[in-house]
Amino acid sequence: MTSRILILHTGGTIGMVPSDQGYVPAAGFRDRLLAQLPTSATAQLPAFEFLDLEPLIDSSNLVPADWHRIAQALISRWQDYSGFILLHGTDTMAYTASALSFMLQGCNKPVVVTGSQIPLSQLRNDALDNLITSLLLASRTDLNEVVICFNGRILRGNRARKVSSAHLAAFDSPNFPWLGEAGIDIALKPELLLPAGKAEFALPDAQVPTFDADAVALLQFYPGISASVMSALTEREGLKGLILLSYGAGNPPEATPGLIEALEKAAARGITLLNLTQCQQGAVSQGTYATGATLNRIGVIPGSDLTPEAAFAKLHVLLGKGLSGEALHEALRQPLCGESH
Ligand code: ASP
Repeated sequence: MTSRILILHTGGTIGMVPSDQGYVPAAGFRDRLLAQLPTSATAQLPAFEFLDLEPLIDSSNLVPADWHRIAQALISRWQDYSGFILLHGTDTMAYTASALSFMLQGCNKPVVVTGSQIPLSQLRNDALDNLITSLLLASRTDLNEVVICFNGRILRGNRARKVSSAHLAAFDSPNFPWLGEAGIDIALKPELLLPAGKAEFALPDAQVPTFDADAVALLQFYPGISASVMSALTEREGLKGLILLSYGAGNPPEATPGLIEALEKAAARGITLLNLTQCQQGAVSQGTYATGATLNRIGVIPGSDLTPEAAFAKLHVLLGKGLSGEALHEALRQPLCGESH
């Protein structure tokens, strides 16, 4: 297939226009883009088509059900294009890139997620550059995974984090090397890329997971957290999985009266508990300290070096696929598509 790219616009700063209340998502991105691209430039780019995913959203309003919408839009067109670009707000981009990586596990085409810190509608912007680089990247045949392409950095989607609200270099991959870089050339590191999936990869629409927003929660430990804060979450109706952001190597404040008991009760009620570190870098090593070993005793799963975004999306996607009990725990313990060591 010759290169033909689908650009799926979901909203976000990249496509926003100014309003009385500040930037708002707006249709018409395609026309604004073509107005800025001279014909001589489009001739050097792979052929692309454009789709607005209604409703366009500021990604800070994203809910897990939006992942279903996005995945379905991609999967129902999977055979028609050689690569895909997702235009997305930066605020929850790392969550969406992670969720897509798990839904499209074993795929055979590039899915490049990008956005910008300044809208294309503004004279000085990072939108055009991010989009042009993404178009060139999405036409590569050696890329078979979900990546974030932003400010010249090419990052595995499920390893990326938004690290700056102000810099144009808004994303990084604190626990995994960049997959590549767009400098004078667009250079990928082949040894880091996921292997190509099956040529016939395609997920029937019916198998795109559905998401229940109440099923997963995330709680960061902080000095002075009480058992009642923990119980308020763990006793909530509908909760199936809780991600704990613990200190350092995976240590909870286990001396807090009733805190570990609240977790123990949650585990006994079948709630999956996944432990991550609050640190930007490094992995959970539950049991290095006695405080962490307590979590092993009550069956909390150590989350290796997963980012919070990837862990949240992974748990949601696995639950959305209907996994539970030991099968769910087993899938959480192992890397599925390069998200952890
Ligand atoms: N609030 C915006 C969004 O996430 C921020 C951005 O796109 O940069 O949609």
